[in-house]
Amino acid sequence: MNTLRIGQISAREVLDCRGLPTVQVDLVLEGGPLGPVMGRADVPSGRSTGIHEAAELRDGGSRFGGFGVLGAVGAVRGEIAAHLLGRTFESQRDLDAALCELDGTPNKSRLGANAILGVSLAAARAAAAARSMPLYRSLNSDAHILPLPLVNLINGGKHASGELDFQEFIVMPVGAGSMLEALQVSTEINLVLGSILLPRYGKSALNTGDEGGYVPQISDPREALGLLHEAVDKAGYTGEIVYALDAASSHFYNKESGIYTVAGKGYSRDQLIEFYLELIEDFGIVSIEDPLDEEDFEGFAELTEASGIQIVGDDLFTTNPARLAQGLEVGAANSLLWKVNQIGTLSEAFDAARMATGAGYTVVVSERSGETEDPIISDLVVALGAGQIKTGAPVRGERTSKYNRLLQIEEELGATATYPGRSFRKPV
Ligand code: PEP
Ligand code: MG
Repeated sequence: MNTLRIGQISAREVLDCRGLPTVQVDLVLEGGPLGPVMGRADVPSGRSTGIHEAAELRDGGSRFGGFGVLGAVGAVRGEIAAHLLGRTFESQRDLDAALCELDGTPNKSRLGANAILGVSLAAARAAAAARSMPLYRSLNSDAHILPLPLVNLINGGKHASGELDFQEFIVMPVGAGSMLEALQVSTEINLVLGSILLPRYGKSALNTGDEGGYVPQISDPREALGLLHEAVDKAGYTGEIVYALDAASSHFYNKESGIYTVAGKGYSRDQLIEFYLELIEDFGIVSIEDPLDEEDFEGFAELTEASGIQIVGDDLFTTNPARLAQGLEVGAANSLLWKVNQIGTLSEAFDAARMATGAGYTVVVSERSGETEDPIISDLVVALGAGQIKTGAPVRGERTSKYNRLLQIEEELGATATYPGRSFRKPV
């Protein structure tokens, strides 16, 4: 990046998969051997967000129901462009630091994390284009690890209009030998799941939630996990699949009473931990994300110790190195959910990933429920060598764009491509 000059920056409103506006940024680098090159990136948006996430700027008012992002777009075109145009940066890190400094707030609330991230990601893309490299290669010369997908086939919580309190019921195709086979297996299971749901719960069960998973009108998480098992068995993949949950539990936790409500029943922290241990035992669950409230580092540590499985911190850590450091001190979770827009620049997100892997934590790269067709996280997961990705059900463009990009990368990597399968907690 060091000899390249920022020649142009532009931004616009585009629509995400929920039909809500989001920021798209174009950034042109000049002065390289190829002449001007452009990077473009879209910014995703969450719905079951953590309270410690960087602040997304929304316009409010009546336009687009208050969800407009003209303020963030204006920040990119105005203040950010004025600050960056004509400048060269030694590295992505220097550019990201300049963006953070210009914003001047701890959570990017002045210019908007959506404005800042759009510029950060577009710059990474432009830098890769200037080197005629795919983004994953430009970020990591040794990148070769594809991710095991955590495929979310039943949606609940804030992502669905059903009664399930847990947000994501996930299959993990650990027995597959490649990305393509992982998608084939997941799709076959999803088709069978649909054929099980239809006669049992009626046509409405085939409606899908924010991440493309089915929404049967059930409330018991045991019933949802039973359905996944039934579909896996019927599709012929018993023993080839393991299971995961994103409970997103802050969203069914009452901070005043200290009670979690699941399927109409109240649980204390200890009772909920006990419940998870039973589910792990009964359903072959190997990974649980956000099992407890986003402030309960101690409870996370207890379940991590007691379960031995992968315990993932999403709302707990918000991809924030400072939050992660707090977790590492007490052994809260053993895995970082990695969402670039939770922190707002690529460099800070990489810092969080490095800190996690340095401490022996796994990293699960994740989409947001409000995604666009931009598949950038597919390049990022390969660049990180994280070995796990969570990007919804393999249906609908905003999810398939990520899976399809991974298939392209698998082909590009050829014989060096490594699919971690059962070694997802130690991908090499
Ligand atoms: C999640 O909680 O892991 C998730 C992807 O949801 P959202 O983007 O709504 O935070
Ligand atoms: Mg989550």
